[in-house]
Amino acid sequence: MQSHYQTLSADDFRIFPRSLDGKARSRHHPEYAGWHRDLSWNGRGFDRYPEYIVRAESIADVVHSIDFARRHGLPVSVRGSGHSYAGCFLRNTGILLDLSALRDIQIDPGRRSAQVQPGVSSRQLSAALARHGLAFPTGHGGEVGLSGFLLGGGLGINFRAWGGMSTFNVRAIDLVTADGEVLHADAHENPELLWAARGGGPGLFFVVTRFHLDCWPLPGCITSNTYLAKFSDLPRLLARIEQAQPDPSLQVMLAIVRQSDDRAPEECSRQVMLNTIAFADSPAHARALQASLSEQVSAGLIRAVEVDQPSDFESIYRQGDAMLVSRRYRTDNILTDRGEDAVAILAAHLPSQPSPATLPLLIWRGASSWSDAAWSASGRWFFSTYAQWNEVADDEVNRGWLKSLYDELATVASGSYINEFDLEERSGSAHRCYSAESWSRLRRLRRQYDPHGVFHDVSMDVSAGDR
Ligand SMILES: Cc1cc2nc3c(=O)[nH]c(=O)nc-3n(C[C@H](O)[C@H](O)[C@H](O)COP(=O)(O)OP(=O)(O)OC[C@H]3O[C@@H](n4cnc5c(N)ncnc54)[C@H](O)[C@@H]3O)c2cc1C
Repeated sequence: MQSHYQTLSADDFRIFPRSLDGKARSRHHPEYAGWHRDLSWNGRGFDRYPEYIVRAESIADVVHSIDFARRHGLPVSVRGSGHSYAGCFLRNTGILLDLSALRDIQIDPGRRSAQVQPGVSSRQLSAALARHGLAFPTGHGGEVGLSGFLLGGGLGINFRAWGGMSTFNVRAIDLVTADGEVLHADAHENPELLWAARGGGPGLFFVVTRFHLDCWPLPGCITSNTYLAKFSDLPRLLARIEQAQPDPSLQVMLAIVRQSDDRAPEECSRQVMLNTIAFADSPAHARALQASLSEQVSAGLIRAVEVDQPSDFESIYRQGDAMLVSRRYRTDNILTDRGEDAVAILAAHLPSQPSPATLPLLIWRGASSWSDAAWSASGRWFFSTYAQWNEVADDEVNRGWLKSLYDELATVASGSYINEFDLEERSGSAHRCYSAESWSRLRRLRRQYDPHGVFHDVSMDVSAGDR
């Protein structure tokens, strides 16, 4: 879309907010800086300043904002809860449509379904569902919004037993198009828009105002086991996990953490923390799930730290939140079937890891097959790294380290997950998160539904940097 700032009069900016139930601030408003600072989930300031920030309070606000943007040639970006690591909702042009105040939740216990608006967080949905004995595979951080999480795919709690990627539990969506039209999309009505919403992520070309979700029975018993292993044993550990083929109701995650004892330089001073979470009907079932893996991998490889610890969604959220501790961060990931090769690459990069807080993580996904959707990446291991540090002065060294690690990991990747892809570094390579077919279909749908580029594309210009 052509930029037409010059055609916007001060009157245009003054009149537009009056048509809203919510509020709007232009770059020139004294409150803009405060609004801008609050947009990112942990308060990190990005040096990207949209012309206008709109805090929508109704669907009508979404329609008005899109109409205003289209008329004036202002490209639109959308914010759910602002948890994008790259702050990809923040662009230097156009209108930012903030949906975080739209937080309605409706639950139909009989149908085991829920309807949620885009600002609803993981914690809010889980608490509401638990009152009806239900659950949903939300993200692992309690405050992470459902909106961007679901639209990018969603690697959720107990994801392997609950539909694979969480987006496959989205039965329908309500949305507003680039023309300002309010539509419903499900398997029968506008099916190509539901197809795109299941994984299209930051490259979408419409605004989702409501998700219709299929939910699951709340597990009767959740337990967590934690083990430690030597970093040098990680390849063998991965091989054992692959052989064991863990039950889908057992979530298996390996974090590469610093050793408190620093006496083993040949181990790169790292060790592996294996965490398994069982989602079961009863304590006996949970013990059986845990034992099915631990008995096959133990044999001197792992040392139990905590076994059969009672857990719940809140504990999982606290564990997730505790992983991200710094003020500044970047993340990148691959999906791969070549876990051992990926670990060899990581081992070569660990000695130069600039920040001790940085956390590499491996999650077992196993073999998976999906119904046709934009989400189309595969790989039995999800291998992400959360680079984190505190000082602006350390930005460049951390950025460079993560980039060189994932440039090399790309050689063993079968895909990547768009929501944890380093969009600040490589938004121009977002196609790597999709099969060739899905990517070209997404591009074709974008041209069809948003021919004039009302919505910002996934490509980001971060040349202005960020703070
Ligand atoms: C602490 C933390 C924990 C996380 N844990 C997990 C996890 O366990 N599993 C996982 O898979 N991911 C996880 N993530 C990543 C998360 O999935 C993404 O950051 C996701 O974008 C968050 O959703 P959001 O609504 O906050 O998105 P936002 O940051 O608000 O938006 C990101 C982009 O999504 C698009 N978007 C958002 N809402 C809409 C909408 N309603 N209509 C159209 N487009 C929209 C826009 O293009 C926007 O730029 C985590 C992130 C953080 C910071």
